[in-house]
Amino acid sequence: MRVRVLGCSGGIGGGRHTTSMLVDDDCLIDAGSGVMRLGLEELVRIDHVFVTHSHLDHILALPLLLDSVSSLRDGPITLHATPETLAILRGHLFNWLIWPDFSRIPNPDHPFLIYRTLSVGEPIYLGGREITAIPASHTVPAVGYRLRGPRASLIFSGDTESHPALWEYAANSADLGDLIVEASFTNDLAELAHLSKHYCPQTLAPDLVGLAAATRIWVSHLKPGQEEAILAEINATGFGHPPARALYEDQIFEL
Ligand SMILES: [Zn+2]
Ligand SMILES: [Zn+2]
Repeated sequence: MRVRVLGCSGGIGGGRHTTSMLVDDDCLIDAGSGVMRLGLEELVRIDHVFVTHSHLDHILALPLLLDSVSSLRDGPITLHATPETLAILRGHLFNWLIWPDFSRIPNPDHPFLIYRTLSVGEPIYLGGREITAIPASHTVPAVGYRLRGPRASLIFSGDTESHPALWEYAANSADLGDLIVEASFTNDLAELAHLSKHYCPQTLAPDLVGLAAATRIWVSHLKPGQEEAILAEINATGFGHPPARALYEDQIFEL
């Protein structure tokens, strides 16, 4: 199981792209602007899209992906999300006003898009790959994901504030090699982080204390221009672990 980071920034500008990861060549975790870095042949191979939540920076490439590849594919793309997130996407995006409902075209019997509901904690198996939605807490219904291959597992928090149920998954994943967690703001914007239900260094550091020392920590969703400052504030807390590092585009995880 090979995971490639396509985008991991909290914004755009200067080559930054928003959240998306490509699993092998057929599966996306989130569909932010990082997807737009792929070539058409790569886009055509995507069969599954798992989304963490409905915010634009995590789904903005999805409507364009469907429009670009559907007539080139033999079967539908499957969109996996919780019932709450699917309801938001169907009501506010694939509603014929912002974008067509690709689950109805070209006809409802053979659509370009299939919606699949996820339940938190229930793994989906695709070949030898295990993908599990895990709890998160954000301003809209949200999940993270645990990806598990034959060698190791990886946890991705998605967008979240401090949420103990998320860290229980980290504590109970003995094969956890890498943890990707968001931290969107510096501490001087702690109030904004609180309101928008994101992490900032002073809320994240206490949650990192219990992690196994062997787990590598990668920080994503850093606000443009604040990347180094946020990382420095996290590592200055001395949370008793090797330093956290910034997740970067085209980073590869072999699971
Ligand atoms: Zn969000
Ligand atoms: Zn986001």
